[in-house]
Amino acid sequence: MDRRVFIKTTSRLSAGLVLLPDFGITSRPGKGYIMTVNGKIKPSEMGLSLTHEHVLVDGSKGATGEIWWDREDVKKVVIPYLDELKEHGCRTFFEFTPSYIGKDVKLLKELADATGLQIITNTGYYGANNNKHIPDHAYGESAEQLAARWVSDFKNGMQGTTIKPGFIKTAVNKGPLSEFHQKLIKAATLTHLKTGLTIASHTSDGEPAMQEIEVVIENGADPSAFIWTHAQHEKDLSTHLEAAKKGAWISLDNVRRKNVEKYVTKILNLKENGYLGQILLSHDAGWYTPGQENGGNFRGYTSLFTHLIPALRETGFTQGEIDQIMIKNPAEAFAIRVRKYRRK
Ligand SMILES: [Zn+2]
Repeated sequence: MDRRVFIKTTSRLSAGLVLLPDFGITSRPGKGYIMTVNGKIKPSEMGLSLTHEHVLVDGSKGATGEIWWDREDVKKVVIPYLDELKEHGCRTFFEFTPSYIGKDVKLLKELADATGLQIITNTGYYGANNNKHIPDHAYGESAEQLAARWVSDFKNGMQGTTIKPGFIKTAVNKGPLSEFHQKLIKAATLTHLKTGLTIASHTSDGEPAMQEIEVVIENGADPSAFIWTHAQHEKDLSTHLEAAKKGAWISLDNVRRKNVEKYVTKILNLKENGYLGQILLSHDAGWYTPGQENGGNFRGYTSLFTHLIPALRETGFTQGEIDQIMIKNPAEAFAIRVRKYRRK
């Protein structure tokens, strides 16, 4: 059964149990829940969602995790952008700034309270950029020990609050996966199996992405628990299909006005091969920079609505297909539930 048939079947059997013979798991559409900075919501309450954005990014303090900015200054700049986003119908915002690069869960809660947007934050470590943002303890600890820290974030909250992560964010370098990055993905997979949190891994090209999918499987989770973040960097579009065939999510997440045509090509490739139900789209925008005047060159979150979606409509995408990508896929990708791998 291909993905197109699957989508038709799931809509016909929307309340029933659906078998996914492609990757050998059972899944009930709408199962699981979403963890926002203000607690649980149902996947059906997410609405239109941006699945990879940033509020504030700060790499200036190495791997200390120090929060040194004035939240009021940040809010003054960011709230108008979030309000603008809401005017485009967006209700849910996945904030992808990782631990030690400016993640500030209190700030995110204050922004959620001020705007009414449903904001989701993360746990996990960022190994890309040659491990510059990896805390020292991560080198000596096992995957199991790292997973225990991330599971604790999910059980108890983070940064001295009760705010919990809604997904796992990791990151690896380009090229073949290093041993250390394999350990990060193993730790993420073990965390998934204990919590049901989805793994989103900053990965540029296809080579490490396919290796990550293997690490996920080897450690017992289904690739449908894995998001290939920044998949747009892979030029060979057949690799998107290969990863999607395994069941992984393909995140094309740097939409800008000037790259809309390239995105249409990549989205069409996935759609025409039956993987419309595994595409995630976002801007990877925002990036308030503490220390710079007014946060520096802040990038808004609307090109997707003003440029990409109209371009998709011109190419023949129906409203139902756009809703699939912007509403149903985020709900399915991020719904918290354990996805175990079962051999076919
Ligand atoms: Zn990002």
